Amino acid sequence: MAHKMDKEKIKQAVRLFLEAIGEDPDREGLRRTPERVADMCQEILAGIGLDVRETIKVLQTEEHDEIVLVKDIPFYSLCEHHLLPFHGKAHVAYIPEGSRVIGISKLARVVQMEAKKLQLQERLTNQVADDVMGAANPKGVMVVIEAEHLCMTMRGARASGSKTVTSVVRGIFRQRAVTRAEAMALIKGRGEY
Ligand SMILES: [Zn+2]
Repeated sequence: MAHKMDKEKIKQAVRLFLEAIGEDPDREGLRRTPERVADMCQEILAGIGLDVRETIKVLQTEEHDEIVLVKDIPFYSLCEHHLLPFHGKAHVAYIPEGSRVIGISKLARVVQMEAKKLQLQERLTNQVADDVMGAANPKGVMVVIEAEHLCMTMRGARASGSKTVTSVVRGIFRQRAVTRAEAMALIKGRGEY
């Protein structure tokens, strides 16, 4: 379980923030905003303090020695530098060791729970890879994340829709360029199924 947030403190902070930016926290539309933000934090930051790795269940199936790829996992996170959203898609590929596999829905959940923290895209990518390595000790893992950062696009510095892409490889994906290329081709949809 994630730790319980101090809802009262969040409400006080949001009220102060509203005052500081020159708003009137008591006007009709803002009166319940501190409370709404506090409730929302419980939900969108539910991953804080959570050991995501412990939530991964490893299954035993028949031996599988090929790439398992879950692509286009949608996620929403908050950039820790600006507290603005970054969101996009994650692709997680791994090669099981023997018969130890991770449920496909669990891979999506790992991404989504790690995303529900104050994050940086690079760290999110690393953490997902570490969780998968730590939980199932596969032959290797590759994580690619493409995201739009509102702290960039809202401020007009970059064109709306520009994407930041990060990737992390561990184990066999690091050692073997061929395996890495195979996973990348699958992610880009040019691979043979
Ligand atoms: Zn930012």
